[in-house]
Amino acid sequence: ARKKLHKLKKTPAITRDGVQVALLANIELPDDCPGALDSGAEGVGLFRSEFLFMGRAGHPHKIPGEDEQFEQYRKAVVAMKGRPVTIRTLDIGADKPLDPTEHNALNPALGLRAIRYCLAEPQLFLTQLRAILRASAFGKVRILIPMLAHAFEIDQSLSMIELAKAQLREAGHKYDPAVEVGAMIEIPAAALSLPMFVKRMNFLSIGTNDLIQYTLAIDRVDYEVAHLYNPLHPAVLQLIAMTITAGHKAGIDVAVCGEMAGDTKLTRLLLGMGLREFSMHPAQLLSVKQEILNCDMALLAAHTRKILRATEPSAISEAVEQLQAL
Ligand code: PEP
Ligand code: MG
Repeated sequence: ARKKLHKLKKTPAITRDGVQVALLANIELPDDCPGALDSGAEGVGLFRSEFLFMGRAGHPHKIPGEDEQFEQYRKAVVAMKGRPVTIRTLDIGADKPLDPTEHNALNPALGLRAIRYCLAEPQLFLTQLRAILRASAFGKVRILIPMLAHAFEIDQSLSMIELAKAQLREAGHKYDPAVEVGAMIEIPAAALSLPMFVKRMNFLSIGTNDLIQYTLAIDRVDYEVAHLYNPLHPAVLQLIAMTITAGHKAGIDVAVCGEMAGDTKLTRLLLGMGLREFSMHPAQLLSVKQEILNCDMALLAAHTRKILRATEPSAISEAVEQLQAL
C-alpha cells in the first residue's frame, strides 16, 4: 500500500471536479525536509522552530544564537528548493518547555508561552527574527506567529519584524523585504475576532491542537481528559469554518496545520468547509492526497453546510461518516 501511495508523489492534489489543494509538511528540524519532499510536499507549512531550542543534547539551556539559527533556517529553505517555508517563531512554554526544571506555573498552557514569551524577551525574539529574515534571502520564507489573541500582540510582533529588518539593513545583511507574516489561529478569541487579524496579516494558519484544547478546556497532554478532546465538537467546527470563510473573504490564504489536517477521516470535512491548504506530518501527506483525488467538491460543500447547521453531536458524527461515502 505504501508503494502504491508513493506513486502519487508527483500527482497534483486536485479533486475530481478540478479543485486544487495545497499539501504542505510540518517539520521540526531542517533534516525533516528530504522526507517532506519525498512525500510530495509543496512546501513547509509549519516549521516548529522551538525544536532548535529544546533538548539540545548535553546543553538543554544553551539557546542557539543568530548565526546558528540562520544556518538552520537557511538549510531548510535550501533543502526545499524554492518551495515556501513557513517558519513559526518560538512557541515555547506549556507542553514545550525551554527548561523543564523551571516550569512551575499552575496553568502553563494559559501562561507565558509562545508570542507572550517572545514579547517578554525582546532580545531573544529579535535574534530569531533576524535569523529568519536572513534566511529569506535564500528562498521563499513566511513568518508565522503562534498564540496571538490581542491586536497589540499582532502590532508589536509586526513592529519587531520591522525593527529586525532595520537592524539587518544596518549590518548589511540581505533579506526579502516582502516576506509574508501570518497568524496562528489557535485561541478561540482569535477565531472570534478575525477582522483584526485579516486586516493586519498576510495569511492565517489554524492550529487545531491548541484551538481544541482552549475551546473545550481540555489539557491536550492530560490523558485523564483525553476522551473529551473532540475535534468534531460543534464549537470547534464553527470556529474553524468561520476562520476559513473570513480569511478567504478578505482574500488571504488560510491553512490548517494542527493534527486535524493529517487525519484522512477529516479531509473531506475540511475541504467542504473551504480549506485549500493543509499542513501535516509528512507521513500523512500521500494518504490525504489520495483522499482528495477521490473527492467531488460540489457534493462535499453541500453536505458540509448541513454538518455545520447540525447541533447534535451524534448527528454531526453520523454526517461526517456519510461524507466518506460521497
Ligand atoms: C496546533 O496547536 O495545532 C499546532 C499546529 O501547533 P502545536 O501543536 O505545535 O502547538
Ligand atoms: Mg499550537
